[in-house]
Amino acid sequence: MTDAAGEVQRLLRPDLRGRTAYGAPQLDVPVCLNTNENSYPVPDVVVKAILDALEDDIAGLNRYPDREFTRLRSALAAYLEKQAGEVFTPEQIWAGNGSNEVLSHIVQAFGGFGRTALGFTPSYSMHPIICETLGTRWIDGAREQGTFGLAPDSAAQQAATHDPSIVFLSSPNNPTGTALPFDVIGAVLGAAPNAVVVVDEAYAEFARPGTRSALSLVAEHPRLVVTRTMSKAFAFAGGRLGYLVAAPEVVDALRLVRLPYHLSTPTQTIARVALEHADLMLGTVEAIKEQRDRLVRELAELGGTPLESDSNFVLFGGLRDEKATWQALLDDGVLVRDVGIPHHLRVTAGTPEETAAFLRAMAALAPTHLAQPTGDVAS
Ligand code: PMP
Repeated sequence: MTDAAGEVQRLLRPDLRGRTAYGAPQLDVPVCLNTNENSYPVPDVVVKAILDALEDDIAGLNRYPDREFTRLRSALAAYLEKQAGEVFTPEQIWAGNGSNEVLSHIVQAFGGFGRTALGFTPSYSMHPIICETLGTRWIDGAREQGTFGLAPDSAAQQAATHDPSIVFLSSPNNPTGTALPFDVIGAVLGAAPNAVVVVDEAYAEFARPGTRSALSLVAEHPRLVVTRTMSKAFAFAGGRLGYLVAAPEVVDALRLVRLPYHLSTPTQTIARVALEHADLMLGTVEAIKEQRDRLVRELAELGGTPLESDSNFVLFGGLRDEKATWQALLDDGVLVRDVGIPHHLRVTAGTPEETAAFLRAMAALAPTHLAQPTGDVAS
């Protein structure tokens, strides 16, 4: 360790010493299937509309943006009515630079020193990182061995035991891909009377037919928060716009912790214009779902054990050594994600060509990298 590094460690907040930062590799490879982005570019019509709208904004950049992002909130409400069939007022909606920021606002407002948050591992790795870096103690709740499922009774019992200030549920869950049994949400709300219950629905638009959204419960549960993002199905990860829906009082509390003017004028504008073109922006979702189902099918045929997915990615097991497979795929120009689960990797469903490139590479590796061909699909 250099002197400067040692000095920084000494000066750093003690609970941050020795930690490593979130770091999904950003590599320049032909087939990038590691961060669950939408592989399709923003359609030309939307590019044009965004550029036109931005032109009006630029001269006004001498002024701070609308702190309450009023027009964007209305656009998000209109989108949710259209996409999910749920009606919300702008006062029930909050947004940030990605849903990561929105999640950090929740933790700043409802967590903090002396408080705990509960999540069910494996789940989205940023939930514990956001909590712990903001001084909230993280509790790793358990899922079922093997299937990574979460039953209402088990979730409720763990929530009751720990009496947390925040509970994180993810549906569909990342990295497992599957949606949560809907009853888990009500069970956790009942079992954790002192908690804000967050349902992270980053991948909701990819869910299989019949999957219910927690949005339908917001009206009756003032402690429920549903987070969503434009980064995934909406093909707008670089636009950095995440949002949540909750009771107006919860949303109002988030104003205590956000930094003033956190959403820049261009961010508000590009997100609003993209939302006005929701049909076009979501135009690739069905094609991506087809590639996802193809991944599940063909990985099973190769002898892997993919989990059923409601997202735009698939977690698959059966690998002898996931790190060796990750490197071998990368050597072949395909970047997937090692999510830290032994014998498993996660792959995003891309364009048909990207998916084919991954499957081709995997087929070549299968004889030596897959433990034993079972052809099972874990549910
Ligand atoms: N929630 C989940 C479950 C995710 O997988 C991600 C991104 N991978 C996010 C939230 C955050 O996404 P963003 O900040 O881009 O909205």
